[in-house]
Amino acid sequence: MEFKQLEHLIYRDYPMSKATSFKVGGPADYLFRPETIEDLQLGLQYAQHYQLPITVIGCGSNLLVTDKGIRGFVIQLAENFSKATVHNNQITATSGCYFSALSKLAAYHSLTGLEFAVGIPGSLGGAIYMNAGAYDGEIGPLIEEVVWVTADEVGTWSRDEFTYSYRNSKAQEEGVIVAGATLQLAPGNPEEIYAKMNDFQEKRRSKQPLEYPSAGSTFKRPPGRYVGPMIEEADLKGYSIGGAQVSTKHAGFIINTGNATATDIINLIEFIQKTIKEKFDVDLIPEVRIIGEK
Ligand SMILES: Cc1cc2nc3c(=O)[nH]c(=O)nc-3n(C[C@H](O)[C@H](O)[C@H](O)COP(=O)(O)OP(=O)(O)OC[C@H]3O[C@@H](n4cnc5c(N)ncnc54)[C@H](O)[C@@H]3O)c2cc1C
Repeated sequence: MEFKQLEHLIYRDYPMSKATSFKVGGPADYLFRPETIEDLQLGLQYAQHYQLPITVIGCGSNLLVTDKGIRGFVIQLAENFSKATVHNNQITATSGCYFSALSKLAAYHSLTGLEFAVGIPGSLGGAIYMNAGAYDGEIGPLIEEVVWVTADEVGTWSRDEFTYSYRNSKAQEEGVIVAGATLQLAPGNPEEIYAKMNDFQEKRRSKQPLEYPSAGSTFKRPPGRYVGPMIEEADLKGYSIGGAQVSTKHAGFIINTGNATATDIINLIEFIQKTIKEKFDVDLIPEVRIIGEK
């Protein structure tokens, strides 16, 4: 099999601290950044050929990579894999498009439905996988079609076939690579669209510690409870382990104050889980995906 054409897209021993918003994590043996579906499929065949385990990432804004890094072949669908078009109130885009950029693209075309996405970091693929959402929306209900890829197949799920729930989606259940999607939007009033987006941005700036590296909300919201207030009530706001700290601005976020290791962050996550279990008898499930060699 001929893989020479992939060589310029593959990086060896790539520090994952440079590919994640937490800015921690050891090296990936191989980081592969395809530009097309053909590259992607050839890359999957390459990994199969050399029996390399595969990890897919987008912009790394919901990831915590361990200090030992990731063994095998990491496929990153980010800016190299980004194209979007607008037609008939729909946006069709490849997975590497920035989710927030699609929100701005929709607004530019006076389309409503994606305002909630304006401040969510990450790629379209990551947003679909995680069923990302904020304030009044989530991506699931907007999906008209999802394109998925395996080493030898390109398939689609229609609106009816694509299932989702809170921070979960069919892409997680099936473990496929999402290559792109079509989102159904509706014509809207541009002033109202921009006003809503500005409002969401302002809320984020005032409530979230955006000046520090993080991966957003550390934990999923347990039914009927809010994570931040529980952590505050447990006196953990500002609590640190090494360079990892429970944000003093928003206790639902763990931040990297500058020199955190992944181990610091994992230890802090576990300490919070234990404390909240003891105090409230609530099991906190991380929303952040912890990946890499233990
Ligand atoms: C400051 C901050 C604020 C945030 N606010 C929000 C918020 O309001 N709402 C929200 O929902 N999230 C929020 N997040 C979390 C994060 O932005 C979202 O989960 C985002 O959708 C992740 O996209 P990503 O491209 O960075 O994915 P990654 O973090 O790279 O990956 C996340 C998961 O998706 C999988 N994945 C990524 N791309 C693909 C693909 N193409 N095919 C298959 N699987 C894939 C990965 O394997 C991984 O399991 C926030 C994060 C930060 C840092």
